[in-house]
Amino acid sequence: MEAEVRPLPKMDYMAPSSLKGALNLLKKYKGKARLLAGGTDLIPKMKKRMATAEVVIDLNRIPGFSGIKLRKDGLHIGGLTRLAEIMQSPLIKEKAPALAQAISMMASPPIRNRATMVGNLCTASPAADTAPPLLVLNASVKIQNAQGERIVSLSEFFLGPEQTIRRADEILTEVILPIQEGNSAFSKLGRRKAFTLSVVSAAAFARIRGGKFEEVRVALGAVAPTPIRGRKVEETLRGSEVNEQNIAQAAECIKEEVKPITDVRASAEYRKEMSYILTKRVLEQVGWGGSHADTI
Ligand SMILES: Cc1cc2nc3c(=O)[nH]c(=O)nc-3n(C[C@H](O)[C@H](O)[C@H](O)COP(=O)(O)OP(=O)(O)OC[C@H]3O[C@@H](n4cnc5c(N)ncnc54)[C@H](O)[C@@H]3O)c2cc1C
Repeated sequence: MEAEVRPLPKMDYMAPSSLKGALNLLKKYKGKARLLAGGTDLIPKMKKRMATAEVVIDLNRIPGFSGIKLRKDGLHIGGLTRLAEIMQSPLIKEKAPALAQAISMMASPPIRNRATMVGNLCTASPAADTAPPLLVLNASVKIQNAQGERIVSLSEFFLGPEQTIRRADEILTEVILPIQEGNSAFSKLGRRKAFTLSVVSAAAFARIRGGKFEEVRVALGAVAPTPIRGRKVEETLRGSEVNEQNIAQAAECIKEEVKPITDVRASAEYRKEMSYILTKRVLEQVGWGGSHADTI
């Protein structure tokens, strides 16, 4: 049954004008505060009483907290960068096409104008669409608190549904994508063509040399408690010739790696079968580009 939508509960609202100010507030209200970015996930959850907070700390007035910069060690995407800006960025389209493809299949234009990528990661939804492309692109996240910062591989970030390694006094300030030679692709299966959550999503990255998979990475969403890497698929395929038979054989391994559930959107059996289909598809795409949004 859908949770009842009510007006927002009473809370204190604070909008600091610097990152330092936000970090100090988080320290002061540790465990009682929630951060607000685009609000497209948090506000509906608060109205449904699925999330609570005594204090909401709005990050939107912090200058210089959004934008995409190319540095020596890779692309740095600021914590408040909106999905639309990332999707439209020529740098992202060129260096991380799977990410641009994934965002183009998320929600709707008004939501993409407001929602942030970091907000999508911090929801820690198993179906968060930016997670599979970021996982195959070997992304890291920069996490700061009032004392300092740490940089963590995204593959270590998710612990379970709505659970991450982020501590209550920390803010995710950047996503870092290393620049690497290779191609990436994303595919999403939903109940409609657009404006829909993933039933299964998949992303792949590959660097092909001499007709072989020199490096290959696969990640899936909505088929386990967290977004996952398909390590067995990768091991099977690494060093193999790029052909349909090798891809199909390696993609079969994903069935042993997924742990899907049955819910209102699909059965576990269907998700497992579709995990194979989408894995095969993204692996074929990384050879020659393209992306897919399918309906059931
Ligand atoms: C109609 C609709 C359609 C949607 N479609 C999709 C879809 O197709 N695919 C999909 O994956 N999602 C979808 N979503 C979910 C949501 O829009 C996304 O997850 C969005 O990217 C969340 O970003 P936000 O900036 O709005 O996050 P917010 O709602 O502001 O925050 C989400 C969570 O992240 C935390 N947070 C935000 N920023 C930071 C930070 N810098 N550091 C630490 N914690 C932080 C907040 O405290 C909160 O817990 C949809 C939502 C709606 C309402």
